[in-house]
Parts: sequence; structure tokens; C-alpha cells
Amino acid sequence: MFITGGSGGIGGAIAREFSAAGWNVAFTYKTGSEAAQNLRNAIPGSLALYCDVTDSSSVSAAVDAATGRYGKIDVLINNAGIARQRLFTDITEAEWDEMIDTDLKGCFLTCKAVLPQMIKRKSGVIINISSIWGLTGASCEVHYSAAKSGVIGLTKALAKEMGPSGIRVNCIAPGVIDTAMNADFSSDDMDALKDDTPLGCIGTPEAVAKTAVFLAGDSGAFITGQVISPNGGMVI
Ligand code: NAP
Repeated sequence: MFITGGSGGIGGAIAREFSAAGWNVAFTYKTGSEAAQNLRNAIPGSLALYCDVTDSSSVSAAVDAATGRYGKIDVLINNAGIARQRLFTDITEAEWDEMIDTDLKGCFLTCKAVLPQMIKRKSGVIINISSIWGLTGASCEVHYSAAKSGVIGLTKALAKEMGPSGIRVNCIAPGVIDTAMNADFSSDDMDALKDDTPLGCIGTPEAVAKTAVFLAGDSGAFITGQVISPNGGMVI
């Protein structure tokens, strides 16, 4: 399996969970070389690759390296992403472009790079990590919500196009998960988010990782074009 953003909280948990389930793991990092090194040490036989998902040649190089090492990529997980809190009126054009390039175009580029080999084999699984905010919209995160909604549209359309080739495409849209991505939220903000969650707690990266393993394996064999939202019951 090949996952982008393995150096982050959710990506690291997904990489570890897939390794525990017996998969070969190739994962990417961009700035987090130390986190990538730690993850590589924690997962025997894993491959850590530099990749900027906004850059098609960087994506191709990482996909080629993983394919060369393991012979094929049977599961692609598009997990790399950024989030920013901004009033809509303060979002600059450059910030909009950075968000769309990373969180949406990044999925497009990795799918473009991996799909030819999956189509040739007539099998494969793609899992795109969106967000609950891509389903509901979030105040002060219009560019993030728009990008993550785009990921859901990409997932549904690609699933229809790739189904006849034996390739399943699904989306995980997590609720609030305890990672560095939420480090800028105050403890009051986090308490408010917990209060909005019927289960009364923030999710763990492992909860998302177990959902991904479920979707990738035989248990997900008849599931495609779907959005699964591990979110503690947050009403959408
Ligand atoms: P995180 O810990 O901040 O990790 C983000 C990851 O994305 C890092 O590995 C980072 O790489 C990578 N990344 C960022 N920009 C990149 C780029 N241009 N090219 C390649 N990699 C890039 O955040 P996380 O919480 O694990 O988020 C993972 C995914 O889950 C994201 O798509 C996020 O939107 C989604 N999500 C998170 C939550 C949440 O509450 N945490 C909820 C819903 C959805 P480096 O660190 O190496 O630069």
C-alpha cells in the first residue's frame, strides 16, 4: 500500500495499522523527515519517500519508487492535507490555491500516477481522506471545506468510472481527530467540539486507520463510491 502524508498523525496510524494487517507499506513525507524516519524504524520493511503532492513530477517519482520496491501498488491512500482557519474575507488567492492544490489536486495527481497500473491489473483500491467539514461546511474554513467537498465528488465520480475495471474508490470523512492539525485550537475550542460530539470525545487516528483497513480488505469488497464518516455521532 502507498499512503501520502505518513509523517502526520492520521497517516502514521494508517501506515502502522496496514503493516499490522500484513501489508507492505510505502509512505510519503514532505517537511516531516524526522517523523518519517521514526515511522520507518517502527515499521519493518517500510519505505519512506519524499513527496510534494502538489507537484506531478514529485508524485510520479514517489509512485515509481514504491512500485519498483514492491512490484505494484494495490492500495492508494490519499491522506496528505493541510487545514487553515481564516475568515473568508481574509483568505488570499494564494492561500486558496495552496489549499486546493494540496487537498484536492494532490488526490488527482496521485490517482493519475497510480491508476494506469491498477487498470492494467483490473484491481485496486483507492481511499481518499476528506473531512466531516467537506460534508457539512465549516465556518472560517471555506477553502478547506471546498477542497474536501471536491475530494468527495472526485471519489464518487471516479468510483463509477473505475468500477468496470475492478477498482474500488471510497472516501473517509473523519470528524475531529486528535492530531497536530488541530494544534491551533484553544482548549475551549476543543471542549466545544467535544460537546458537539454525541460520544463526548475527540477521535483517535487509530479509529480512522481501522476504517481504512476495513475498506481496503475483503470486508469492503462490495463497497465503492461511498463516504464513511468516523465522527463520534456528530450530526451532519
Ligand atoms: P497532520 O498530522 O498535520 O498531517 C498532515 C500530513 O500531510 C503530513 O504528513 C504532511 O507532511 C502532509 N502534507 C501536507 N502538505 C503536503 C504536501 N504539499 N505534499 C505532501 N504531503 C503534505 O494532519 P492529520 O490530522 O494527520 O491529517 C491527515 C488528513 O486527515 C488530512 O487530509 C486532513 O485534512 C484529514 N482530516 C483530519 C482531521 C483532524 O481532525 N485531524 C479531520 C478530518 C480530516 P509533512 O508533515 O511531512 O510536511
